Amino acid sequence: KNNSINAKLVLLGDMGAGKSSLVLRFVKGQFLEFQESTIGAAFFSQTLALSDATVKFEIWDTAGQERYHSLAPMYYRGAAAAIIVYDITSTESFERAKKWVQELQKQGNPNMVMALAGNKADLEEKRKVATEEACTYAEENGLFFIETSAKTAINVNDIFYEIARRLPRA
Ligand code: GDP
Ligand code: MG
Repeated sequence: KNNSINAKLVLLGDMGAGKSSLVLRFVKGQFLEFQESTIGAAFFSQTLALSDATVKFEIWDTAGQERYHSLAPMYYRGAAAAIIVYDITSTESFERAKKWVQELQKQGNPNMVMALAGNKADLEEKRKVATEEACTYAEENGLFFIETSAKTAINVNDIFYEIARRLPRA
């Protein structure tokens, strides 16, 4: 028996954290050094086959800028999953990620599968956010946490597989 699941997934996080790059890596296996910043939001879809289910992700890649904040609920409302992305070289982006988590905890779907992605893990020499700190934060807030690099592809597929694994089965 194979479950077929459609899952709306939203990416949230500071501008420049690497949301679009993570999606591009996952959907097309590509990386751009000069990824253009997203205007409003962009839509992608990608299907993952697991042993017990086929998950079709309907992915909303949001812009992240404050001036688009009022649009965010359109993308996270009704979403089955969210990836909140920060850049490990920016404490500011980590603070912004926490704000998104708070907003989702208040306004989002209570059963939402939430992942915290510390992106740009390839830039270890510029790291500002300790793995331990983010890990503790994630545990305290019921998120799962992973460090990723859209550039090297480290843990990018893994984050989507882990979300797929955690989605409720029909
Ligand atoms: P967004 O605003 O969150 O969508 O961020 P983008 O995906 O547009 O990425 C912003 C910039 O960071 C771009 O220049 C990307 O090439 C770069 N970038 C994204 N992910 C990574 C990564 O994992 N490692 C490195 N070194 N650069 C990255
Ligand atoms: Mg973008």
